[in-house]
Amino acid sequence: LNELREATMSSKYHKTNEIDRSERATTENVMDPRTRMILYKLVNSGMLREVNGCVSTGKEANVYYAVRGDGSDAAVKVYKTSILVFKDREQYVAGEFRFQRYCKSNPRKMVRTWAEKEARNLGRLANVGIRAPRVVILRQHVLVMEFIGVDGWPAPRLKEVKFPSTTSMDRCYLELCVTVRIMFQSCKLVHGDLSEYNLLFHEGHLVVIDVSQSVEHEHPQAIAFLRRDIVNVNAFFRGRGHQHLFTLQDLYSFIT
Ligand code: ADP
Ligand code: MN
Repeated sequence: LNELREATMSSKYHKTNEIDRSERATTENVMDPRTRMILYKLVNSGMLREVNGCVSTGKEANVYYAVRGDGSDAAVKVYKTSILVFKDREQYVAGEFRFQRYCKSNPRKMVRTWAEKEARNLGRLANVGIRAPRVVILRQHVLVMEFIGVDGWPAPRLKEVKFPSTTSMDRCYLELCVTVRIMFQSCKLVHGDLSEYNLLFHEGHLVVIDVSQSVEHEHPQAIAFLRRDIVNVNAFFRGRGHQHLFTLQDLYSFIT
């Protein structure tokens, strides 16, 4: 808490030219003064007890392990405000009626939009019973959610899973196919970045993560994204030697 407070104070949070420069210099490093202030307030209000090490440093976000006020653990996803990264994402937002106020010229508003979108999509998944992290709280570009893992150790991603038998791999493949179908049919969402990197394996089941770019099934690109998703899924299981893959056509028909 003290560290956060000192860092926040000493970085001259108040608006000066100096600040603008230091903030710009740290756009690659996600812990800019604003982010620290948000975390500081979450700790100060008792929502979080502590924010610990980095679980993942990605291109678009960092994920931290945190402990909540009640002692349960949480994952804190902090979106990066780097403009370069978010240029890529325009294709997902163009055509989304939910995001008409997406502001290309303001990176801070953009990341807030992505965080909002992820929180909303996670809620939609949870509402229909798809395994996904529960949202705890959203503060601008900082999303606090349920931590998927044990004792501070994140659950393995699908990529890292060693299946003990072909039966267990087959079950996992089927679970994934059904999950994508429910996501499409009940949530009206296409993941859009589905792969062995965005699925965690926890307590014998898959958990869907990273849904900030997911699109409505009516999005003009939804079908193209869905095709790419199922191509990824089949490619992963083919690489693992799965013998009973559905054809892309059958999988597509099943899902839609
Ligand atoms: P990005 O790919 O945009 O960096 P992700 O949402 O995929 O962000 O998260 C990156 C990594 O952080 C994941 O691969 C996973 O290992 C870890 N992670 C993300 N969310 C959670 C969570 N709720 N619980 C545990 N680990 C998580
Ligand atoms: Mn990811």
